[in-house]
Amino acid sequence: MFSKFLPDEQIDQIFDLKPEKLKELGIKGIITDLDNTLVAWDVKDATPDVITWFKSMEENDIKVTIISNNNQERVTVFSEPLGTPFVFSAKKPLSRAFKTVAKQMDLKKEEILVVGDQLLTDVLGGNIAGFYTVLVVPVVQTDGKITRINRLIERRILKRMPNKDNRKREE
Ligand SMILES: [Mg+2]
Repeated sequence: MFSKFLPDEQIDQIFDLKPEKLKELGIKGIITDLDNTLVAWDVKDATPDVITWFKSMEENDIKVTIISNNNQERVTVFSEPLGTPFVFSAKKPLSRAFKTVAKQMDLKKEEILVVGDQLLTDVLGGNIAGFYTVLVVPVVQTDGKITRINRLIERRILKRMPNKDNRKREE
């Protein structure tokens, strides 16, 4: 079970996911978390860098969908201007939202990458659903209420992770 918490890869920021590299991996779709993955959890709108990142994926025919456990208003206000599909109140790590999106993307699970800043929701959920998983360093070191509890558990898991550099995640 512990291995289900381990990402296939760790990156410093979402922008480290580049179309050329994704193509080499055979990735054609990205399921991304929102809060502290794309922007800080308390930032309402996409930043210019995030907008550019979405465009670069679109130009390279890499489909992106936002899956967030956050509420309808938060996720809609952020996602709609980007013109990207999204799922709110996704109940990650449960597989349902992941599977629905994979179907909508019309891609095989080997072609989909899941990225997020939390082991207990994003990475665990992505692994259970059978996707390639990427853990990103949170955009900011603060979190919303529920996430704070998850972080306590997460820190224990991170300590056991083999050969990983977690300096950026430590307080
Ligand atoms: Mg998050």
